[in-house]
Amino acid sequence: MNGTKQPSERSVEIKLGSGKTTIIKIRRSSRARRLALRILPSTGQAELVLPRHVSEQEGVTFLHQKIKWLDQRLIKYLKPVPFKDGETVPFLGEPLIIFHLNSIRRDIYREKGRLIVTGPKVRLSKAIHGWYRREGGAEITSRVKEKSEMLGRKYGRLTIRDTKSRWGSCSSKGNLNFSWRVVMAPPYVLDYLVAHEVAHLAEMNHSARFWDIVESLTDELQRGRRWLRHNGHELHRYGVEPPTVKGRESE
Ligand SMILES: [Zn+2]
Repeated sequence: MNGTKQPSERSVEIKLGSGKTTIIKIRRSSRARRLALRILPSTGQAELVLPRHVSEQEGVTFLHQKIKWLDQRLIKYLKPVPFKDGETVPFLGEPLIIFHLNSIRRDIYREKGRLIVTGPKVRLSKAIHGWYRREGGAEITSRVKEKSEMLGRKYGRLTIRDTKSRWGSCSSKGNLNFSWRVVMAPPYVLDYLVAHEVAHLAEMNHSARFWDIVESLTDELQRGRRWLRHNGHELHRYGVEPPTVKGRESE
């Protein structure tokens, strides 16, 4: 395969941080001045452009430095699942079928594997986004309270957002931030994630001592981490085009 130096189309398979593998096209270009990596919008496939003076090996090394970027970009090309009548969406790890009922009254509730949404259809997506945020907020808040008491530390502000790159974070001031999307994951994942961020109230690092604290706050450390590594990126498929929220939201 490496014998010819002709302009050829090659590809390389690399493993992403999320545990999935992806095929990347390698294209040699005599016009390109530098290494470039891009996603082809038509196929959602990544392409690496190699200038004449750069070896394929250098290109592959470059790819490995870009795994995080690739992971985040390729997420966008997973088949999106909009919040629409008849679509199936996860909630605490269980599937819910969106069911719209035309009615003047605006309501949203779970019933026998369905997420029933009443009111005007044009508001459906917005209503479901709001519902996830509220439910997510409630599920997260109760766990944060429980675990911060277990740890004997106070937290500052707790915010729920649609973060793109992280499921949760803890600031040096003890403010906690979570993505509402985590409420789509099974409860044990939520348990681990909250334990992780609450543990940062005591240890602002990922030292052995930090992981000991996480373990003291949850029995789900391994299972939760594994689920996120394999399935976490999938959560970004749901409810595309979230309504934009201006400014900072807080509880
Ligand atoms: Zn952390």
